[in-house]
Amino acid sequence: MPTWQKEWPRLERGGGTSWGDTTAPTTQIGTGSGAWEPKTLGTKANLDLEPGMSRAPPSSGAPPTSTAQASCGQAGYGQFGQGDIQNGPSSSTVPTPRLPGSQPFGSPLAPAVSQPAVLQPYGPPPTSAQVTAQLAGMQISGAMAPAPPPSGLGYGPPTSLASASGSFPNSGPYGSYPQGQAPPISQTQGHPGVQPPQRSAPPLASSFKPPASGGPRMPSMTGPLPPGQGFGGVPISHPNHVSSPLPQALPPGTQMTGPQGPLPPMHSPQQPGYQLQQNGSFGPGRGPQPNYGSPYPGAPTFGSQPGPPQPLPPKRLDPDAIPSPIQVIEDDRNNRASEPFVTGIRGQVPPLVTTNFLVKDQGNASPRYIRCTSYNIPCTSDMAKQAQVPLAAVIKPLARLPQEEASPYVVDHGESGPLRCNRCKAYMCPFMQFIEGGRRFQCCFCSCINDVPPQYFQHLDHTGRRVDAYDRPELSLGSYEFLATVDYCKNNKLPSPPAFIFMIDVSYNAIRTGLVRLLCEELKSLLDYLPREGAEESAIHVGFVTYNKVLHFYNVKSSLAQPQMMVVSDVADMFVPLLDGFLVNVSESRAVITSLLDQIPEIFADTRETETVFAPVIQAGMEALKAAECAGKLFLFHTSLPIAEAPGKLKNRDDRKLINTDKEKTLFQPQTGVYQTLAKECVAQGCCVDLFLFPNQYVDVATLSLVPQLTGGSVYKYACFQVENDQERFLSDLRRDVQKVVGFDAVMRVRTSTGIRAIDFFGGFYMSNTTDVELAGLDGDKTVTVEFKHDDRLNEESGALLQCALLYTSCAGQRRLRIHNLALNCCTQLADLYRNCETDTLINYMAKFAYRGVLNSPIKTVRDTLITQCAQILACYRKNCASPSSAGQLILPECMKLLPVYLNCVLKSDVLQPGAEVTTDDRAYVRQLVTSMDVAETNVFFYPRLLPLVRLRIGTKSPIESTTELPAVRASEERLSSGDIYLLENGLNLFLWVGASVQQGVVQSLFSVASFSQITSGLSVLPVLDNPLSKKVRGLIDSLRAQRARYMKLIVVKQEDKLEMLFKNFLVEDKSLSGGESYVDFLCHMHKEIRQLLS
Ligand SMILES: [Zn+2]
Repeated sequence: MPTWQKEWPRLERGGGTSWGDTTAPTTQIGTGSGAWEPKTLGTKANLDLEPGMSRAPPSSGAPPTSTAQASCGQAGYGQFGQGDIQNGPSSSTVPTPRLPGSQPFGSPLAPAVSQPAVLQPYGPPPTSAQVTAQLAGMQISGAMAPAPPPSGLGYGPPTSLASASGSFPNSGPYGSYPQGQAPPISQTQGHPGVQPPQRSAPPLASSFKPPASGGPRMPSMTGPLPPGQGFGGVPISHPNHVSSPLPQALPPGTQMTGPQGPLPPMHSPQQPGYQLQQNGSFGPGRGPQPNYGSPYPGAPTFGSQPGPPQPLPPKRLDPDAIPSPIQVIEDDRNNRASEPFVTGIRGQVPPLVTTNFLVKDQGNASPRYIRCTSYNIPCTSDMAKQAQVPLAAVIKPLARLPQEEASPYVVDHGESGPLRCNRCKAYMCPFMQFIEGGRRFQCCFCSCINDVPPQYFQHLDHTGRRVDAYDRPELSLGSYEFLATVDYCKNNKLPSPPAFIFMIDVSYNAIRTGLVRLLCEELKSLLDYLPREGAEESAIHVGFVTYNKVLHFYNVKSSLAQPQMMVVSDVADMFVPLLDGFLVNVSESRAVITSLLDQIPEIFADTRETETVFAPVIQAGMEALKAAECAGKLFLFHTSLPIAEAPGKLKNRDDRKLINTDKEKTLFQPQTGVYQTLAKECVAQGCCVDLFLFPNQYVDVATLSLVPQLTGGSVYKYACFQVENDQERFLSDLRRDVQKVVGFDAVMRVRTSTGIRAIDFFGGFYMSNTTDVELAGLDGDKTVTVEFKHDDRLNEESGALLQCALLYTSCAGQRRLRIHNLALNCCTQLADLYRNCETDTLINYMAKFAYRGVLNSPIKTVRDTLITQCAQILACYRKNCASPSSAGQLILPECMKLLPVYLNCVLKSDVLQPGAEVTTDDRAYVRQLVTSMDVAETNVFFYPRLLPLVRLRIGTKSPIESTTELPAVRASEERLSSGDIYLLENGLNLFLWVGASVQQGVVQSLFSVASFSQITSGLSVLPVLDNPLSKKVRGLIDSLRAQRARYMKLIVVKQEDKLEMLFKNFLVEDKSLSGGESYVDFLCHMHKEIRQLLS
């Protein structure tokens, strides 16, 4: 494996320059072809050079004219064109060949893309095998499963989802470039450490035993359809958590209509902290359960079982009768927002992510840090296989908390460091059991008995609990931090503060669009806002590089009168030409930095260079951090496909003809292995890469985003960037990105109690072994999803425990460990599993699973896998938990009643079913974003929020305080009234839809024009008008933006306008233009699948 480290000594070739000697010539180590070097490499090549001295580098690429003008979304690819367009390096740019042994990227002469097209599956085993296994499906026999016994009650109310901490990446409406036709280069490379989930074979039919007795069953909410009749009835969720006896059998052949209008609350009001959970008794007439009162008081009346059954012959499924996401969200808000969610009880299902609630940590991690697909895990792997419900946790270790909630306490155990189990190395936590009067403790993860060190000894109270338990966060809280000792640091040395390096593309396109000028201007002030962690001044050092086909490093040492530029043209063998003066303290070097940022746009103002390199830029940044012996982040601002001769050079291999073929997966795979290797080195150095892309055409996001992805960085994409249109969005994202708190050089490990273990991981990170998730950087927006599998039998009494430990370097350079603990219940009855699932988290997991699957498998296979798994989950419920009823009836578990509608949204998403306007880069971009999304983000991304603004009309008194309280409507065209105005957002996109017959006064108040026809379609800014409606709508837009991790650019869409097509893509309950099924159709489809499994 090539390493770049050994390249360091070659610095000496710069004429014997010693490190830090800024006066020494940093030679140009390359071929000397570039005209820049001789001038700038000289000693003290100041930036205040004579104008013209360093300007106007000779153009080595095509004249910029054609591309520059190519208007986005229309013209061809411009000068970069298809793969066959001559745009290769001129002979003068070919680097001098190097000794083979010293070429990290392979021969610089050989285009990187020419590597053998051997397909190495992304991740160890190809998913196709698993897929096949899954497709085989679960053959459920007609035999009835054992009825749920009366006990085994679920803990916690059955709910689904949750976290109020949503935030999200946004890209704005997709830019559409012309589609390329270049032949694809199919090439993949291993995705380190990420293993496809090991799914077990589905249970055989024989595993379903007839029930020992015809145990009581839960009546369904709908009446059975006449046998043999198609699915025309009303599918209804099954209130499996409702303990009150439901009406006995409905008259055969009849069916209740579903709830019309608002559903009653599905969940009983949760009283956080109360011990007695509502029980999910099954079947009518069930007696009181042990430890539970008889039908718990206040059980909601079930709206779906009201009144006498009505005969029904609906021809078409009534959309109002199928489970409504809006209703579920509203109900959860009504029931659970008022009381804080107290984490003291094992296995409680938290409120939904769409509910605004507070959390009180009483021993388990907040749902803002960890959400699970189920809070009650089957005791055996057989049960888990039968149910097919993935057991996964979506973990956001550094999640930001609302102001009302305290950040994790930092515990300092001094030199001895955190207390851990000797055997499994789990950290001290509230679940550890102290014994022998407090002299020893038994590990709750591996049962090992450990001695308590004398300095940690404390007496126990009569319950066996340490008397100081409440004084110690690690004994009483679910989340806390330890200060790490040198043992937890690289080379046993406490870390230096991290550094930020800004690396700016100064090629023709970057200059022409005004990007460079805008960015430099912004950085002058933004550098005052680097993360500081409470300190007066940020400890972070900064450095600057500009590049096109060569790299320019800048010496901004505080003692200099002017910054100095050093050029490295030998991009094939990157090194950093200066150490002293490259990474500096902002306040000390402010004058020099300001001067540099003023000069950069001028120096390159007349550039005609259109070609760029990419991998050497990242390598240079990483080498600079390595030389400075610190971790850090690279901020790359990049515009084009890197076609200049250099390692990591790319070809235009975009090819929409591959869609729906077996080769479609290649569009998502990197086209060369160079970036994988580079990412690995970055991770080893703690070098996180954030990439800001400004493409006018295909730039191969799939390849360029690989390093950011594997280093825990972020990617932002601004297609067809124009300062006037996109400045606000870009600057907003940039400010947020630069200021956000990041943990560097991090390693995350998830430990589990005996019986289950983490087997698979999803997210933006690197893994060099099977257990440690390595993150060069991790910020408060990123999640890591972990899947678990049984390796032994679990115990109902002891439950299951998770401990997530994240070791990282803070922005101030402190080494810390953040610990999150979570206890889950275990069950011997499938009904308990189904009562304690969280659909939003399930969807988050399933989307990530599918989005990774597209790297290895045909999209159709991936889609079929999702559908089959969903059908298996629901069939197993029907088989084992629901009351016997006609096969014509669709019965859904209460907390999974939205699984079909949400899954359909995933299936219709751009990655799995692209519309004609979606580019290959868009798909790769979205795929990459979803991988690190939290549950709130995937929830709104797949099912957008559609807000009617009626309630904001003039005359309303209350200001818009919280958008989370605004009632949304279902994402369907049927719900749009032409007399109203709607906002739609999904975390990336934001639309304002204006109905054609909206009142003239409203039009005037919002747009300051006289009539609907005068509203400019596509408008991205609302005029600032001094009237209540205008203020409220603009306030609402600001508030929506503030909730998301990325700035959402507004697009005003008029009813019946051309742009409306774009908007309609987001009405996810409708049939989509790309062929995606409507919600109603998909529900019928799902029902058929389930019936097949059951027959
Ligand atoms: Zn242990």
